[in-house]
Amino acid sequence: MNRTSKQILNAIGTLSLALANRFKTGGVIANEHTLDREETRSHVEILGRWFDFIQLHELPERLSHPHRRPFCLLTFDDGKRSNATAVAPELEKLGVPAVFFVVASSIDSKSPLWFDRQKALRKKLGTLPPGLRLHTLKQLPYSLLVDRVEHACRQFGVEADLHDDHVALMSSEQIRGLHQRGFSIGAHGLTHAILTREPKLAAMESIEKSITQITEVIGAPCSSFAFPNGNYTPELAQYAIRCGAKMVMTTEPIWADESSALWRLPRLQFFGMDSPGKIKLKIALAASGLILDNPDGSGKAYRAINRLARQSSGHTSTAAKIECLSSKPRPHAEI
Ligand SMILES: [Zn+2]
Repeated sequence: MNRTSKQILNAIGTLSLALANRFKTGGVIANEHTLDREETRSHVEILGRWFDFIQLHELPERLSHPHRRPFCLLTFDDGKRSNATAVAPELEKLGVPAVFFVVASSIDSKSPLWFDRQKALRKKLGTLPPGLRLHTLKQLPYSLLVDRVEHACRQFGVEADLHDDHVALMSSEQIRGLHQRGFSIGAHGLTHAILTREPKLAAMESIEKSITQITEVIGAPCSSFAFPNGNYTPELAQYAIRCGAKMVMTTEPIWADESSALWRLPRLQFFGMDSPGKIKLKIALAASGLILDNPDGSGKAYRAINRLARQSSGHTSTAAKIECLSSKPRPHAEI
């Protein structure tokens, strides 16, 4: 994108967000993964013009008693080392809180997460055979997925670079340090298995054990859970609540407001390379109820179902939304 297009996108984003903010209560929960220091500052600067940054424990109150100025809760998934070496130090300088969702079995681990290995394969091979493409892998049960990626890594002599802080995982000491400095630490599964691809008991075990392990690492109750890749069922989300989570995160790409349930909170996904205009436009689109891609692959279906529900009942109720969503596990996409 050239400079003029970026400026135009930025202007459209600003205008759309200004309009959206006039009519929306609540705020946004941002879903990030890895950012470098400069990207962290840039995202904070863009979001900070429109939103109050809040701590995790403030979220229920801000949803039920909206302020004039909307809120933004920053969340970072996967527990990469750069969260501790780049993101957190910048956020501290800026006085901005955040939640870090950590894959429990990857703490202190010297094994990269499966999607970083897949990315390394893609980088080395260029075009990947269909069986190794992200979309295909995300349809598989975890054990099959991991076997397939491992086999390919051996076959092609490829490994993800654990010297890269965007690939390496945080140590328990780093995670404890973040907690002690006031950041929130949440659970993101025992492995990064997509829980709707697993047998129900295995999925439940992943939720329960990850919450228990994070509690042990930080020496305090772990009060939040985020579904790997965003895929969830209402039953699993409710189970996370029974295991001690007070708030459960999905990747439904919508604004969070008084109709949002704490056991199924929406999040908007941002990336390091997103321009200011793109970030603003994503938020404005989410506010207006227009379609954004859900990384779990269900965004369009979700909205189509809700639209149908509205048309058939003549109104939108949260109960109707839950009813519509409870029957099917949601499909795949970005981590
Ligand atoms: Zn993740």
